[in-house]
Amino acid sequence: RAKSAGGNRFELADPEADARAITRHGLTTALPAALDRNEFFIEYQPLVHLGDGSVRGAEALVRWLHPQHGVLGPDRFIPLAEHTGLIVPLGRWVLEESIRQAREWRERYGEDTVAGPLRINVNLSPCQLSHPGLVQDTVDILERTGVAPEALCLEVTESALIGADDDLLKPLRRLAEMGVDIALDDFGTGYSNLANLRRLPVSILKLDRSFTQSMQQFPADPVDLKIVEGIVSLAHSLDLAVTVEGVETGAQAEQLRILGCDTAQGWYYARPGPPERLHDLALVDATG
Ligand code: C2E
Ligand code: MG
Ligand code: MG
Ligand code: MG
Repeated sequence: RAKSAGGNRFELADPEADARAITRHGLTTALPAALDRNEFFIEYQPLVHLGDGSVRGAEALVRWLHPQHGVLGPDRFIPLAEHTGLIVPLGRWVLEESIRQAREWRERYGEDTVAGPLRINVNLSPCQLSHPGLVQDTVDILERTGVAPEALCLEVTESALIGADDDLLKPLRRLAEMGVDIALDDFGTGYSNLANLRRLPVSILKLDRSFTQSMQQFPADPVDLKIVEGIVSLAHSLDLAVTVEGVETGAQAEQLRILGCDTAQGWYYARPGPPERLHDLALVDATG
């Protein structure tokens, strides 16, 4: 459609050209007002137990409904929000909004779901980690909503924690002691020392999508299988659960299940979507 229009129309309808036309500067200056105007919203992607296929919870993924440019993904604006410091109030909003959503799931569906009350995963940026209000904000939100700390998992990328000193780890330790799960996101991309895992207050490893992609063929490359097998067995021996992201096919799910991964997330199960969709998915009895 865009092509046949020709000329300038092509430029306008080409998403990549459009992306270039949205300048960093333009987005950056629009960010604070966007938060005030409630232009952000959250999509939820189910986390599925690989053993029985039941939905155990969801990851909150933030989007920006920009008045001119439509829906923008987090990769477009999170780096800008980090750069300007807006990530702190934005991150706090995401935390509150998604915990509030988790409470709603619990109130409406509670034990009706196959696996019991649904849990909520929220991404934290490194700037939020070093912000002194993190622990108190989290405690306040949990108290205000009446959601148990055990229902919350905070995801921090491996790269954010590489070389982290004790000051940076202290808030995470406090949260972990309260019962909040900490997940190491995009694990395997940050070249961190595996032995380093011992000093991090994490209880979940989220294997990066690149590992899932290497399980595309059935059977997968034997070396790739060995690597994932090794990571899973190390994780389990350290009492860490393993979640895999980016599962797009049944073959991937099956191989990762055989390798001992605990939980999975990806388009094979569901794309990120509105919170109501999670209700439906969680109420389906996976075994029946
Ligand atoms: P992430 O935490 O690793 O989230 C997983 C990303 O993979 C999401 O991209 C998700 O939509 C995408 N994904 C899920 N399943 C599949 C699949 O089967 N195949 C493929 N190809 N992709 C899949 P999204 O939503 O664009 O988010 C990108 C990143 O933005 C996230 O990566 C996370 O690091 C960051 N992010 C999202 N929401 C927040 C937030 O509220 N705060 C912060 N600080 N970062 C956020
Ligand atoms: Mg994540
Ligand atoms: Mg991830
Ligand atoms: Mg990732």
